[in-house]
Amino acid sequence: MAKDYYEILGVSREADAAEIKKAYRKLAMKYHPDRNPGDKEAEDKFKECSEAYEVLSDDEKRQMYDRYGEEGLKSSGYAGAGNINDIFSHFGDLFGGMGFGDLFGGGRKSGGPQQGENLRYDLEISFEEAVKGTQETIKVNRMEPCDKCNGTGEAEGAKRTKCSTCRGAGRVQMQQGFFTIQTTCPRCGGLGTMIDKPCTKCQGTGRMEQDREVLVKIPAGVDDGTRLRLRGEGEAGTMGGPSGDLYVYISVKPHKTIKRDGVNLFVEKHIHVAQAILGCEIEVPTLDGPEVVTINPGIQSGETVTVKGKGVPVLGSKTDKGDLIIIVTVDIPKKVNSEERKLLEAFAKSQGVDFKPEKSFFDKLKDKFSE
Ligand SMILES: [Zn+2]
Ligand SMILES: [Zn+2]
Repeated sequence: MAKDYYEILGVSREADAAEIKKAYRKLAMKYHPDRNPGDKEAEDKFKECSEAYEVLSDDEKRQMYDRYGEEGLKSSGYAGAGNINDIFSHFGDLFGGMGFGDLFGGGRKSGGPQQGENLRYDLEISFEEAVKGTQETIKVNRMEPCDKCNGTGEAEGAKRTKCSTCRGAGRVQMQQGFFTIQTTCPRCGGLGTMIDKPCTKCQGTGRMEQDREVLVKIPAGVDDGTRLRLRGEGEAGTMGGPSGDLYVYISVKPHKTIKRDGVNLFVEKHIHVAQAILGCEIEVPTLDGPEVVTINPGIQSGETVTVKGKGVPVLGSKTDKGDLIIIVTVDIPKKVNSEERKLLEAFAKSQGVDFKPEKSFFDKLKDKFSE
């Protein structure tokens, strides 16, 4: 069933960015898992409103959703917020950089191992590659676990001592307005301990920059703006936390003669008026080479002929494909010779075509009175 993102957030379709943010913030606070531990219904509601916010807070996605609905959004590669980490990534801007864990004293961002940051890579591919799928090796500069200390950040023989700032708790209390909030200890990063001898290669961070080649498999049917997610190919986590993801944003170069809208391909073909009247066979370009298509007698200029299943594969489906649609323009000769003129006059006569206007009703009436 299609979801109405506006209804989920309880805003009108004309709501501006501020209204949407406000509505989401209210719902997210209410249904946040840290406030409703073990409540499946609240969790679903939380995911639902986060998905709605992910779409409606992004101009590009919102426009696509308004025009094509949820399905259109999915077929173009925006799969919605399926992953809880995606959802938590929204909170940075909503709560002024403060994580939810910090607000509620929960453990989500309490330091210790943390997931690495996500990375973005922009990749341009050809029209054919987008339709048929391809693979590319891209070069990514990212943080990886330090190879000297295996990501621990400790020099050989180093000892850990209790952090003096938080006395080992990993968290410190801060006064903010009326609230006393707990936040991650800035000195030890939430670990509660400090290293006496940090690793010399990574200065104790446990991570170092590396250039890596990453193979990106691009499925058939991607479109301009499709976002591919490569799990775990982002920055390494800290203190042994999981790696972030790599997002590859696809842009597709246009084709010279073939246009695309979603899964359908469009080709414009000109035919002669005689071909239009009598019907004909024409050759049209497809991405698998030229193909012969039958045009039935009597086609009008601007009409289309559909070749089923010769379009773009539906993303994620092995069998479903869009169509190839031929837009036919009927060309009328600008000049004819005397012989052709005679043939056309005979044709016109046979079709009962007049070359001058018939007498109007009033002319006929006048004729009658003047008799
Ligand atoms: Zn500390
Ligand atoms: Zn190191």
